[in-house]
Amino acid sequence: MPLEMQAVPCLSDNYAYLVHDPETGRTAVVDVPEVAPVQAALAERGWKLTDILVTHHHDDHIQGVDALRAATGARVWGAAADAHRLPALDHSLCEGDSVTLGNARATVIDVPGHTIGHIAFHFPDSRLAFTADSLMALGCGRLFEGTADQMWDSLSKFMALPDDTLICSGHDYSKGNAAFALSVDPDNPDLHARIAQMDEDRAADRPMAVVPLGVEKATNPFLRAGLDYLKDRHGMPGEEDRLVFARLRGLKDTF
Ligand code: ZN
Ligand code: FE
Repeated sequence: MPLEMQAVPCLSDNYAYLVHDPETGRTAVVDVPEVAPVQAALAERGWKLTDILVTHHHDDHIQGVDALRAATGARVWGAAADAHRLPALDHSLCEGDSVTLGNARATVIDVPGHTIGHIAFHFPDSRLAFTADSLMALGCGRLFEGTADQMWDSLSKFMALPDDTLICSGHDYSKGNAAFALSVDPDNPDLHARIAQMDEDRAADRPMAVVPLGVEKATNPFLRAGLDYLKDRHGMPGEEDRLVFARLRGLKDTF
């Protein structure tokens, strides 16, 4: 039976995600920007928290972890590489490790770039990937600690997943990301269609940070850095993909 997933809006534009295994009742939260909205969502669903999965060390992703652990007794999973700057970990994780949630299993993907030690959680059987501030809806995280090369490698790992994988990212930056995407890829019909759909999604209160990978591949300019027409448009014909990505990421920094 596939996992059930619930996006929980937190703070001004963050998301936490609840993941529930209906067979065993185990329930995880991915990142804890705030405690109250997570607790409210758990209560509404009647789910009991058993696990806390942490993607990276930024406050807006971990500041509720200790309080939520104290309230629920949940065990905490996070990157071994960042153990010194994360809440105390019950399970330290490296690339390729597994997280078990009842009968479900996530694979840990090491995705440095936004930070060193940023990890993502991929539940292949349920077609879910929790990417936080690495791959984001119509964008990718700013490079605070890692290099453009590292982020390109990280994004390439996601591009290898099945297109029907639901990408669940850390923030709703859809407005700004859409404006930037249009500025660098203005003739992409899929991008125009997606942006038109966004107003409807917003009005219907759909979580803007949750998007199928196939849609990201068709519209997210950072996933399209390897395409010839985009290289040509940016005066980089035949250039290496990672250098085109670096150019696009640089443009976004000053957009
Ligand atoms: Zn962050
Ligand atoms: Fe963040």
